[in-house]
Amino acid sequence: MKRKQLLLFLFCFIFSLNIQAQKDITRLVEKLLASTPIEEDLQELCDDIGGRVTGSEANEQAVEWAYNKLRVAGLRVRKEAFNMPVLWLPKSTSVEVSGALNFKPSAVAKYQAIPNIYKGEIVYVGMGKATDFDALGEKIRGKFALVETDLCLDINGLFAEYAAATATEVAALKYGAKGIIFMASRPSGLLYRFITSKTTDAGQIPQLVMAREDAKRCIRTLQKGGKLQLEASIQAQVGGEFESHNVIAEIKGSEKPEEVVVVGAHLDSWALGTGANDNGCNVSMLIDIARQMHALNIRPKRTIRFALWNGEEQGYFGSWDYTKRYLADMDKHIMAMSVDIGSGDIIGFFTNGQAKLIPALDKVLQPVEKLGEFNHVNVPIVGTDNFDFMLQGVGNLVASHKPQVYGLNYHASSDTYDKVDLKSLKNNSAIVAAVVLGFANLEAQDITWERMSRAEIDALFEETKLEYTMRMFNVWEAWVDGMRGQKK
Ligand SMILES: [Zn+2]
Repeated sequence: MKRKQLLLFLFCFIFSLNIQAQKDITRLVEKLLASTPIEEDLQELCDDIGGRVTGSEANEQAVEWAYNKLRVAGLRVRKEAFNMPVLWLPKSTSVEVSGALNFKPSAVAKYQAIPNIYKGEIVYVGMGKATDFDALGEKIRGKFALVETDLCLDINGLFAEYAAATATEVAALKYGAKGIIFMASRPSGLLYRFITSKTTDAGQIPQLVMAREDAKRCIRTLQKGGKLQLEASIQAQVGGEFESHNVIAEIKGSEKPEEVVVVGAHLDSWALGTGANDNGCNVSMLIDIARQMHALNIRPKRTIRFALWNGEEQGYFGSWDYTKRYLADMDKHIMAMSVDIGSGDIIGFFTNGQAKLIPALDKVLQPVEKLGEFNHVNVPIVGTDNFDFMLQGVGNLVASHKPQVYGLNYHASSDTYDKVDLKSLKNNSAIVAAVVLGFANLEAQDITWERMSRAEIDALFEETKLEYTMRMFNVWEAWVDGMRGQKK
């Protein structure tokens, strides 16, 4: 009799806990869909603080701003310091073309271009493929290779552009080019900045992105046989190692506090625009979710960490540091999510080679099923802060969004507050909250995935031919030589 009573009591207790967990998700979703300070916060971050390259004063302001937002909201929050390997803060790029044409095209230097004044003849190298360089051979040596690009309007275009640029770099170095001028892949004079795949090589050459229209003007003249000279003055503040900070807010788990769910968005940005869709919108979103969760006094079963990463644009240095700092706890990390593809509607999640996450995802998305149709894609994503969790074999997700204006404005001067889809951002906050709280509250039997071993991760990379992509983002060698990622 006693045993039966005890079992009944336990059953009722667990049942009521689960009812509570369901209620919490409903309350949280309702609160996030109602009026919250998410827009105000985003405006402060983008307009008042502005572009925030890691290592800049604005970036440190953003760290203080995020820390205070979370502290004022009542959360347990801390700044976690880590070292960035090199400082490169853009100041200005001015370019002059002379010869058959005399004008000042608008252009910017790519990341880690060595500040200097560069002069040389411009040679048109078509689309900048290896075969284009092969055809010109020695004619490239000591000259600036001007590369045509396809228009980039969406995220597939971005990946294609990164891949093409990497191939161009390799060929340009092989033939001894003095520098590379990429035609901007976006129209109407838009300029943007991103990393190069050879940033740490000694044989590095300056790389510029030139306004599409200006580059086309040069190409037309070169094709008619006109000769063009380039003079480029690249100004940047450069330096060695420096300290940066992630901002981490935590809600302790009530049942399994040692088990952790991480949700992150990067605080840093490039600074031609103000880092609105990349990635201020999702920083504001995570602050809002943390704030509302705390205000509603929600106690998840597992610990939730809201991570505002730094140093993402240079190679995910902040989230890499996190995986080193908490290395001993990686087995206890149930899931780590990155939200970094703007403010278009969330249409599912990338599950990064861990298909077993999908049934759990479908389950936790049920409370928000009215907010979208979710289709998950089980491919590994390189290019954001899920990366080091993936290398650690931890179950990791990247939110997948409708592209909308993301590709066009990516890293560009036009990535400003007015491009953010505020309505979708609100819906997205409810979706992300449901997933994060849902994973933190999952029953043990729903967690069917395990941390992957190094051999399993290697097999995944082999199967999905990830080496090229990882090289393109300059992170392949650190995995191979064991600097990053799971060792066993
Ligand atoms: Zn980003």
